[in-house]
Formats: sequence, C-alpha cells, structure tokens
Amino acid sequence: MTHNAIEIRGLRKTYRGGRNEPEKHALKGVDLDIPAGSIFGLLGPNGAGKSTMINIMAGLVIKTQGAVRIWGFDQDENPRQSRAAIGVMPQELNLDPFFTPRAALEVQAGLYGVPKPQRRSDEILEMVGLSDKAEAYARTLSGGMRRRLLLGKALVHHPQILVLDEPTAGVDIELRQMLWTNIRKLNAERGMTIILTTHYLEEAEEMCDEIAIINHGELVTRDSTANLLGQIDSKCMVIEPVSKPDRLPTLDGVEVTLRNNGALALTYQARAISAEDVLGAVRQAGIAIADVKTEQADLEDVFLKLTKSK
Ligand code: ADP
Ligand code: MG
Repeated sequence: MTHNAIEIRGLRKTYRGGRNEPEKHALKGVDLDIPAGSIFGLLGPNGAGKSTMINIMAGLVIKTQGAVRIWGFDQDENPRQSRAAIGVMPQELNLDPFFTPRAALEVQAGLYGVPKPQRRSDEILEMVGLSDKAEAYARTLSGGMRRRLLLGKALVHHPQILVLDEPTAGVDIELRQMLWTNIRKLNAERGMTIILTTHYLEEAEEMCDEIAIINHGELVTRDSTANLLGQIDSKCMVIEPVSKPDRLPTLDGVEVTLRNNGALALTYQARAISAEDVLGAVRQAGIAIADVKTEQADLEDVFLKLTKSK
C-alpha cells in the first residue's frame, strides 16, 4: 500500500495587507495528496502561492485555515513530529555569515535535536561537494556553494521528505546537474520523498513523476507527468516549403501559421487528425515540401492551456 507523505485539506492563507493595501489571498482552499516516495513537482508562475504552501508544510508560515498532515502527523496535533519529517531548502540564501559550513550544519542539527553521535556533518558536506570548504568563512562561499550548503542543512535531521523551493532558479548548469543528481540519488537510494517547486517546466518534466499546477492560490490540475503531457495531445508539424506558398493549407482542426523563417507550422490534435491528412492538406494547397519535422508538445503548452482557461 502506498501512503501519502503529505495530505493537505482546505488550505487557506491570507496575508494581512500593508497600510492602504488589501489583504492577499495566497492560498484559496487547496486539497493535495503527495504520495510517499515520489518526486513531486509543484509548478506555477511567480506569485502562484508555491512558497507559501511549502513554507506552511515546513511550519515556517502559519496557515489561516485547513489541515496539513506530514508523514501521517497532523501539523496542529503533532507539531514536533510533523516538523521532524520534513527538511526544506528555501528559496532565499538565508545563511548566517559567521558560520563555516560545518558549523552551520552542526547548529542546524542542534536546532532539530539531533544528538551528537547521530550527526552526519562530514557525510553531508561530502555529498554536497563542500568537504574542502568545511572550515571556510561563509563570506568566501560562492552563490552555488551557499545553495549546496542550504541543501545540506535541509538534510541534517534525516527527514523522510525533502522540499526544495526553486532549487535551480538562477544557478549555473553545473550546479543544476549536481542538484539533480543528488535529488535523484536521495529518492532512489533512500526512498526520500522529494517535493520541488519550480516555474521551469522543463525541470518538472525531466525530474518529476507527478505534477500539481497552481495558479492564483488554486490548484489547477494534478496528474502524472506522462498524463499531463498526454492530456493535451497537441502535435506540431513544421514544413519547409520549396518556395513561398501562394495560399495556406486549410483543414478543420488544424491551426496554420507561417513562421518568420518561411516555415509552415501546423498544429493539431494527434488523436483527431492523422499526419497523413495534414500532409494531404499541404499538397492540396499546391505546396511542394522541401523538409518536414514534428515538434512535441511540452509542459509549456499544458501549462498555458490550463492556466488560460482559469
Ligand atoms: P510563489 O512562491 O509561487 O512565487 P508566494 O507563495 O511567494 O508565490 O506568494 C503568493 C502570493 O502571496 C503573492 O501574491 C505574494 O505577493 C504574496 N505574499 C507572499 N508572502 C507574503 C507576505 N509575507 N506578506 C504578504 N504577501 C505575501
Ligand atoms: Mg516562491
């Protein structure tokens, strides 16, 4: 039986407005289950409510209403156990400049009540590639190193659930690869449940088994990555004509656009229309084909489609 790492019911968060500002409804009643052992993506544009949601899970932001169960523990009834089950790598680089990486890990472990013999600071430093910086002044750490240290801090108390808030926003490719490798390893080798927020669709697509999309504080959809991609089923055939066409092909259910480079882009639902029919319409318009290729729909399309309809 699979159980849920996280169960959220009717979650609301209203931030008080500043002077002359209205209050802000950051979460408007969200229900969400996140299965244990998955890599789960919380996807949405800036301001959607992603950070609010995970900061509530982590006990860093106080919810206005609703129920949150972490690893089976109700957050209000068992605050200590529910906090112990989750580790968060925050979006901001909020590191104390006076601590070396090793000290930062030790202090964090102390905060979570991890007894000295159970601390794994060296192992964690090794894992995030900071062994040679263990005693470095924090101010000498690059942005990438700081981010890796934040990942390390999230792991000190051996949580079952690891939450990463926009882990790769603004980081270079090397660090991004390193984070992805670490995340996959933690999931595969320790069965750790991973929840990451991102507004990079590509990242969710590549990393996540399941995805929830939120926008304006509401859950837009939640499904497996494969289903989400299948759901829109949109294909795009790109045709390079031998010469500039006199007229464009017409066929019901096919959207035709002429691109700046002279190529014809024909978008259609693969379930409803065959590639053969699309090509037929092209020939019928008297267009000789120099080259043809297809482009797959990606989450960007799903996302636009689903959020537009709201
Ligand atoms: P995301 O992480 O998806 O970008 P956030 O959860 O940070 O979204 O923000 C959701 C909404 O709540 C935004 O409109 C944001 O401006 C607002 N918000 C976030 N934190 C605060 C806060 N501390 N006080 C007031 N409004 C906030
Ligand atoms: Mg955020």
